[in-house]
Amino acid sequence: MAFTLPALGYAYDALEPHIDARTMEIHHTKHHQAYITNLNNAIAGSPLEGKTLDEIIKGMDMTNMPVRNNGGGHWNHTMFWELLRPEDKGRLSGPLKDAIDSAFGSKETFMEKFSAAAMTRFGSGWAWLCVLPGGKVEICSSPNQDNPLMPGVGCGGTPILGLDVWEHAYYLNYQNRRADYVAAFWNVLNWNVVEDKYNKAL
Ligand code: MN
Repeated sequence: MAFTLPALGYAYDALEPHIDARTMEIHHTKHHQAYITNLNNAIAGSPLEGKTLDEIIKGMDMTNMPVRNNGGGHWNHTMFWELLRPEDKGRLSGPLKDAIDSAFGSKETFMEKFSAAAMTRFGSGWAWLCVLPGGKVEICSSPNQDNPLMPGVGCGGTPILGLDVWEHAYYLNYQNRRADYVAAFWNVLNWNVVEDKYNKAL
């Protein structure tokens, strides 16, 4: 069964003015679709065909660049769209709030440190919040379409929050102003989804 593009679950203009409709449509239908098409082509006829995306990511042969780049691209974007559900942004609460307070002191300090990770990722990549065994959370970033679940990427743990800092995610609306895009991201992040992912990761 080949991988297919997941529906967003909301309209392309639902995140305006923070993320514009044109960026969302191109990002979803062109960029994400291309990762899926290329992943399907890369695994066709190989032992990876028939595995789940999580199985492919966790067991990644990091020298297999087509699967690494496009499998990561599919996993990372699938999570990203889920995080941006606009109908209810929720609020940070429960065990995730406790974990963030414990690791960073406050939600505000966490947001500053996460934003700094997104800003200092040189070139294309992602900023992440990951859950370690036991529930501790930590921030990291990765290049290209690498994912913390892949072997040796360095973050360890399970990602529950990811921010795409490729220029294709923001250039139409923000041009080179990545900081403005990162600041806008907090306006469309659904904390309930992050909390749900935290609880499932434990
Ligand atoms: Mn992207």
